[in-house]
Amino acid sequence: MTEPGVASSDALNIETRIERHGDDYLINGRKWWISNGLHPNLKFYLVLGRTGSAENKLKHRQHSIVLVPADAEGVIVKRPMRVFGYDDAVEGHAEIEFKNVRVSVREALIYQEGAGFEIIQSRLGPGRIHHCMRAIGMAERVMQLLCDRVKARTAFGKQLGEYSDIQHSMALHRIEIEKCRSLVYLVANEIDTHGQRHARLGISMIKVFYIVYMF
Ligand SMILES: Cc1cc2nc3c(=O)[nH]c(=O)nc-3n(C[C@H](O)[C@H](O)[C@H](O)COP(=O)(O)OP(=O)(O)OC[C@H]3O[C@@H](n4cnc5c(N)ncnc54)[C@H](O)[C@@H]3O)c2cc1C
Repeated sequence: MTEPGVASSDALNIETRIERHGDDYLINGRKWWISNGLHPNLKFYLVLGRTGSAENKLKHRQHSIVLVPADAEGVIVKRPMRVFGYDDAVEGHAEIEFKNVRVSVREALIYQEGAGFEIIQSRLGPGRIHHCMRAIGMAERVMQLLCDRVKARTAFGKQLGEYSDIQHSMALHRIEIEKCRSLVYLVANEIDTHGQRHARLGISMIKVFYIVYMF
């Protein structure tokens, strides 16, 4: 989905062209931050692009998703990208150019022409809660490291964990983790019992909560 040229947090901005030529689509565009884009087992990409015209009033029906074989002619992997300065090789996140890539409409189109936004949102919306779950896992790991550290480190004749300000701050961290976990459970249950559309507000809340408190 993501492209260097446009603000890609809004899928409606995506500009890669997927143009119909007879029975084929011709794809032109540039993507970046494509996770696993360099994975040795990679066989194909799912590419979101614009099949409709920008003048089309139905702005949520202008994009489609197509399957593109990784070895198709015109697929050019430009470079592996760094995350916070770190090299994520070998799977990594790739910058990729699609230059006159030709795929057959019958074999490549996912679901329907114009359904790209619908597919992307149905994946990204509830997907947010998975980010929160992972963040809780990371926070637990940090908490564990912290516990080991305050027992192993001695300052001014006492273990760090014996100082009340350290205990106080660790207690606050524990409370924040449990608050975040409780909200995740609540929203996950709402998705299970009433569906993701109904849980939209909760999903947004948990996303904000984990960004503000877990990082
Ligand atoms: C490690 C990693 C892996 C990734 N993997 C993939 C992948 O596999 N496939 C893929 O397509 N993309 C991937 N991405 C890209 C990621 O999805 C985009 O970076 C993200 O959607 C934001 O788009 P953008 O970078 O164009 O930023 P922009 O859309 O330009 O946003 C820039 C800034 O604007 C602000 N902003 C944007 N929207 C809002 C909003 N609604 N409310 C408030 N502020 C807002 C935020 O501060 C944001 O940081 C990956 C990124 C990273 C870092």
